[in-house]
Amino acid sequence: MKNRTDKLLAGLGEKGLDGILISQPENRRYLSGFDGSAGFLIITKNKRILATDSRYTVQAKSQAPEYEIFPVTSDIGGWFPGLAAGLKIKRLGFEGEYLTFSLYRRLCDILGKGKTGLELVTAENMVESLRAVKEPGEIELISQAAAISDAAMDYIRGELHPGMTEIEAAWEIEKFMREKGSQALPFDIIVASGPNAALPHAQPSARAIQKGGSIVIDIGARVGGYASDLSRTFCLGAPDDTYKKVYDTVLGAQLGAMAIIKPGMTGGEADQTARIIIEEGGYGEAFGHGLGHGVGLATHEQPRLGPGSPEELSDGMVFTIEPGIYIEGWGGVRIEDLVIMEQGKVRVISKAKK
Ligand code: ZN
Repeated sequence: MKNRTDKLLAGLGEKGLDGILISQPENRRYLSGFDGSAGFLIITKNKRILATDSRYTVQAKSQAPEYEIFPVTSDIGGWFPGLAAGLKIKRLGFEGEYLTFSLYRRLCDILGKGKTGLELVTAENMVESLRAVKEPGEIELISQAAAISDAAMDYIRGELHPGMTEIEAAWEIEKFMREKGSQALPFDIIVASGPNAALPHAQPSARAIQKGGSIVIDIGARVGGYASDLSRTFCLGAPDDTYKKVYDTVLGAQLGAMAIIKPGMTGGEADQTARIIIEEGGYGEAFGHGLGHGVGLATHEQPRLGPGSPEELSDGMVFTIEPGIYIEGWGGVRIEDLVIMEQGKVRVISKAKK
């Protein structure tokens, strides 16, 4: 954890900030190890404070030994002034993307009244950019989560049959992953069959799976807080001509992207590698989402691989490559693998059969 806060402090220094207030849950956990649902980190050159309430003080002490635990109540006006006065700094960053407007106003009000001379300055993307590049221990946990979702996908592939509902299939997958050691799933399982598969984020329904159409399944497991993300598309019985063409186009786009994507590309350039192939296949309009996203403590995090994304890809980043084609009234195909950028190229982590 110290390594992470040191990097963060170096970044804050470049922005002329003396410290930062962290409230976003995954950022809080990443920097401190504390995975409770409430609390603030205050990190300066000389102090690492975890401010949390009595539900969590015991847990915080054991999970975040590098932090001074500062007990708080729900009324921030009661404890923040004292804490702020003790910091003896001028410019405190906060996560502009996450701190609510009402809390921001409250903090400004408190600081103004206290004449602390402490100024709140928005500091976005400070922790997210660190989280994008994974450490070996993080890669290990993601790989363990991926192994569980891979096994679940191969399992459900053998269980799918005409008449099984999407909800039944989703429950079979959920049970399987939990029994194999997954923590609470990072997102709701998607099982979308027939025309439902045209909705990239469909909810499993009572629709019975039938022969011939597409079945999109999108699942993730969680180990040690870290998520995996995996999609496969299946067809029971003989696929129609549309299915064959769409599936081959999506697979071609995915494999093409995996071969071409390399460090130094932006997320936008990476997205383009697959998008060109889908456009050439005549389905450009039918690929409405980005090519992929980083995966870690959050299912969706940096880097974003999508049209215009400026984030630069580098070794150590873990992300998905998941082109898809969706045709209203017919269905859809999405094939999603988890990959890591390693030694200048993409290594595929996912092992579920295609
Ligand atoms: Zn995904």
